[in-house]
Amino acid sequence: MSALMLDGKKLAAELIDNLALQVAKRVQQGKSSPALAVILVGSDPASSIYVRNKRHACERAGIHSLMYDLSEVTTQEVLLALISELNRNNAVHGILVQLPLPSHIDSTLVLESIHPHKDVDGFHPYNIGRLAVRLPDMRSCTPYGVMRLLALAHDDLKGKHAVVVGASNHVGRPMGLELLMAGCTVTTCHRFTVDLAAHVARADILIAAAGKPGLVRGEWIKLGATVVDVGINRLEDGRLCGDVAFDVAAERAAWITPVPGGVGPMTVAMLLENTLRAVSKADALLG
Ligand code: NAD
Repeated sequence: MSALMLDGKKLAAELIDNLALQVAKRVQQGKSSPALAVILVGSDPASSIYVRNKRHACERAGIHSLMYDLSEVTTQEVLLALISELNRNNAVHGILVQLPLPSHIDSTLVLESIHPHKDVDGFHPYNIGRLAVRLPDMRSCTPYGVMRLLALAHDDLKGKHAVVVGASNHVGRPMGLELLMAGCTVTTCHRFTVDLAAHVARADILIAAAGKPGLVRGEWIKLGATVVDVGINRLEDGRLCGDVAFDVAAERAAWITPVPGGVGPMTVAMLLENTLRAVSKADALLG
């Protein structure tokens, strides 16, 4: 392996320590602690682990987390009523609905019901739209976490050819918007892309976010590229892996993220940063 590691776990820990200092300073000044409402519907094992990790991270940062563990059969109306109540509650600064939701609930409707100022995941069309017009407010956590990791390797991304593999609303699309805002020339690949290998081979910056283990072969990586693997896939033997064939890719890349320990911890750190941003905005609005 010759690539240097983009260590998301280490950077996220530093960022959360820093957030803890900022939260402590707020409290010293007599301001409220940030409060994040975390809504989990059902008991999907992966979702339960993600929610537990987010709650632990909140504790480390001094952010108050309010847990709403709802049963699998919760109706859409009940969920929307809870979000409406949390939207109105000035003591709650951020609202997170863990995805995926059970199939009888319309996720789009639910995410759009969260007030954009409390949308700490950065999924609301208002916040995606702000990013699209280069006026970001609440930035989608995973793409923004990737940008913060890229800053470890690059002072400036202008003119780099960035290739994003994956075009989902929550990862691939806002990722492309972040890279465009940073001055990259962006190519977005998706399930209908013809000749993925040829696109990947042109990437100075490669972001893999398809959720397909081994989709990006190591030999495709341009020599000296920066490779960020967003994918989290569980193999049959229980191990986690990304979308990029790591060993060969690491021989060719200059920088690479591990899975786990790369993008995942950064997503959580950005969620907490957004929560602090939300409480600061609320202070400013409420006076
Ligand atoms: P998704 O299923 O919503 O979207 C996958 C995207 O990949 C789609 O746009 C699809 O067109 C594209 N795709 C599928 N097959 C492809 C192929 N053969 N070639 C090119 N593109 C292809 O998934 P998502 O929610 O965007 O998540 C993607 C991955 O990132 C998953 O593994 C998920 O677990 C992971 N993820 C990680 C974090 C993190 O914090 N590290 C956060 C969110 C998602």
